[in-house]
Amino acid sequence: MTFKALVTSKSAAGIATSLLDFSAADLGEGDVTVAVEYSTVNYKDGLALSGGRIMQAFPMVGGIDFAGTVEDSDNASFKPGDKVVLNGWGLSQTHNGGYAQKARVPGDWLIPLPENFSTRDAMAIGTAGYTAMLCVMALEHGGLTPAKGDVLVTGANGGVGSIAISLLSALGYRVAASTGRASEADYLRGLGAAEIVDRDTLSAAGKPIQAERWAGAVDSVGSHTLANVLAQTKYRGVVAACGLAQGLELPGSVAPFILRNVTLAGIDSVNAPREVRLEAWARLAKDLDPAKLQATVTEIGLGQVPDVAAKILKGQVRGRTVVNVNL
Ligand code: NDP
Repeated sequence: MTFKALVTSKSAAGIATSLLDFSAADLGEGDVTVAVEYSTVNYKDGLALSGGRIMQAFPMVGGIDFAGTVEDSDNASFKPGDKVVLNGWGLSQTHNGGYAQKARVPGDWLIPLPENFSTRDAMAIGTAGYTAMLCVMALEHGGLTPAKGDVLVTGANGGVGSIAISLLSALGYRVAASTGRASEADYLRGLGAAEIVDRDTLSAAGKPIQAERWAGAVDSVGSHTLANVLAQTKYRGVVAACGLAQGLELPGSVAPFILRNVTLAGIDSVNAPREVRLEAWARLAKDLDPAKLQATVTEIGLGQVPDVAAKILKGQVRGRTVVNVNL
């Protein structure tokens, strides 16, 4: 029996992605087969489908995350009918990912879906939302509380940014949202932002130490933006860095660390240990209102993924794009 898969191939002419009929034999290694229901388009998926050195073998089914129902399992932790979610690990890098109606994966990569989420909710959250939760956990680990002051979220209209704003405002923080899209201010305020910051005020080279503004920050942008955010972070503040939408470099100084005792917490969602993932998903189930999330979601089918993947690299996607693999 065949099923649909969005497959990326590489030839002398470059990278090409097309919707193909796949069979179980094409899926690859693993002890659990999942009937995928939803995947998403993350920034990293945009990079992968554009040939951005994410995929390490070809042909490859893209999609760094998925949610679905276990169909077949040789793993003692999972049985047919279990709802599961998977973010990162080898998906779309060394292992076929979520842009297919079926996936076969090592059971150790799977997380049981929290009961109050549907598989669609899980992918509305997706890797972006799970990463936003990892950022919030890092801020808390660094001692941040709502009483300490305002929290800045950069890349506010993006997936990580949108969900970070929702989470932080639900937890009682006053959130400032840095964006290049002032036209989306109402959307950001609807998510819980109390203040909009023009991203141009952060994106150019700035002084190594600046007026203290933020008790904490979630940065999905990197480059000069992260350097300026650090320079504006209050004494003993904490910044969680997870992204590179502006750039990979960090052109700043050690001044915020040695003069203001600022903590810079790095966030990697791909290889996060299982216990950290379980904690992040349990916290998402407690702290994130799935109804509020709906405002961030656009649903598409597998055939529309390449187009959205190209747009996300240009910063033209708002919130979260959920891929219904059965559309
Ligand atoms: P999105 O594309 O959805 O969001 C990125 C946002 O950044 C855009 O919406 C835009 O927000 C802003 N932005 C885009 N280009 C620029 C620029 N040149 N300068 C300043 N701001 C810019 O991506 P995601 O939210 O999915 O991911 C955000 C980042 O986090 C990516 O770099 C991604 O690779 C990374 N990431 C890392 C993970 C990890 O494990 N460390 C996991 C998930 C994501 P606005 O229009 O509001 O300005």
